[in-house]
Amino acid sequence: MISLKDVSKWYGPFQVLADCSTEVNKGEVVVVCGPSGSGKSTLIKTVNGLEPFQQGEILLDGQSVGAKGTDLSKLRAKVGMVFQHFELFPHLSITENLTLAQVKVLGRSAEEARAKGMKLLQRVGLRTHADKYPGQLSGGQQQRVAIARALSMDPIAMLFDEPTSALDPEMINEVLDVMVELAREGMTMMCVTHEMGFAKKVAHRVIFMDKGAIIEDVPKDEFFENPKSERAKEFLAKIL
Ligand code: ATP
Ligand code: MG
Repeated sequence: MISLKDVSKWYGPFQVLADCSTEVNKGEVVVVCGPSGSGKSTLIKTVNGLEPFQQGEILLDGQSVGAKGTDLSKLRAKVGMVFQHFELFPHLSITENLTLAQVKVLGRSAEEARAKGMKLLQRVGLRTHADKYPGQLSGGQQQRVAIARALSMDPIAMLFDEPTSALDPEMINEVLDVMVELAREGMTMMCVTHEMGFAKKVAHRVIFMDKGAIIEDVPKDEFFENPKSERAKEFLAKIL
């Protein structure tokens, strides 16, 4: 589903990704963690073409992300992305936020898009908030709308970049619960998160990054019970 082969990226002389290789299979949940500045966000953004890279290859559903002829906007529409800061359109209602891309990008009718949006809003527990504006919702609620919006495009996979790290503690779980449900339904997911409870619950694998490199890429239990590298051990000691 998602395949990275020796992906490297530089900002000028600074190498931000160093020969990163991994595979995320259909239905797999992979948690990406590591110290600040280790390249997690950059890695996840290269996957759907939000960040260019200079070396290596990324295949998304068999299609090359970096190749010249690739229609990136089409490719991006296939992969849902949720960031740390809920990037809803502030001047649009929740319903409009949920239907815009469905109509504009997928060419669905307004009616069809609305029905899909409402179904997803129901699913994230926000059916009664359809006519509000993002500013009228809490951070946790906005993030759940952002997930619903991503799902409205029927993505083949979902990418998350620290979706709960900007939230007040009491709102973290309501967002994680939605993610856990998604994972259990078999969604292919790549999640940058330091929520190790989430990783323990649903991750199949954990990728640990340091200084732009993938240091560990192992089954979840192995990562928590028997991390190989000193750096992962130190990281876990700090975070658990
Ligand atoms: P965090 O946990 O703080 O979110 P991260 O693991 O997501 O960190 P990245 O945001 O991917 O790390 O950044 C990796 C490195 O690349 C950092 O050292 C950062 O300063 C650098 N970097 C990121 N964006 C740019 C840029 N546009 N130009 C130059 N350097 C950048
Ligand atoms: Mg980051």
